[in-house]
Amino acid sequence: MRTLDVLSQALDFGNALFDLLLAPVCSVCGERVEGRAGLLCDECLESFEPIGRMVCPTCGSRATTRVKNRCRECPPRPVWFESARAAFLYTGFLPETFYMFKYSRHPELGEPLARLMFMTLRDVFNDAFPRPDFLVPVPLHFLRRFQRGFNQSQLLAEEFGRLAGIECRVDLMERVRYTPRQALQPPERRARNVLGAFAVCDPASVRGRRVAVVDDILTSGSTVNECARVLREAGAASVQILAMARA
Ligand SMILES: [Zn+2]
Ligand SMILES: [Zn+2]
Repeated sequence: MRTLDVLSQALDFGNALFDLLLAPVCSVCGERVEGRAGLLCDECLESFEPIGRMVCPTCGSRATTRVKNRCRECPPRPVWFESARAAFLYTGFLPETFYMFKYSRHPELGEPLARLMFMTLRDVFNDAFPRPDFLVPVPLHFLRRFQRGFNQSQLLAEEFGRLAGIECRVDLMERVRYTPRQALQPPERRARNVLGAFAVCDPASVRGRRVAVVDDILTSGSTVNECARVLREAGAASVQILAMARA
């Protein structure tokens, strides 16, 4: 009996140690979380601020007053996409979360982030923002993809597509030119930085279809606008943009 007690105490101790070492912690702030590792804690999640419904109909920026079809945040003309919608403002712990996701290589964050994006944008489809025929993630150049190990926009698009029941096509567009990071470019140089960076690999699948380009974070909108330009040139009937956040 005694031996059993000692054994069970040792086991309890072992379990406690195991819990401590392998306790699931929030990927962003390191707080302990209930459930699976790689998730986000409540505090981080609650810091994400949905953009809401009052947005610029073109670029999806939060609007404080009603705007007609353009606002100051819209990309410079010509705008090749019909309409962009993002789920969250780029505030709270969202920048840290994306840093962890992209640069500290936590691809397992893609699924919970896409789920949040879907829950926030699930009612987005209506007459003004029709349901697309398929989703196309913004492609990464293969060198950058090799360096990072995954394309964050693809992970978001695949899971969002699965939840929304919209096909995700990763084979339709590729990045044919390596470009310096947009975030490091001054705003006036961003459109030129991505000019000619993308190509449609399969124009026949694009012709006459409604395509939604999925990006992680919209800033100037130059990258998605260039994607939209090549898709329209390949014959897409319309191009919309879906993003996790609008900076
Ligand atoms: Zn956290
Ligand atoms: Zn706008």
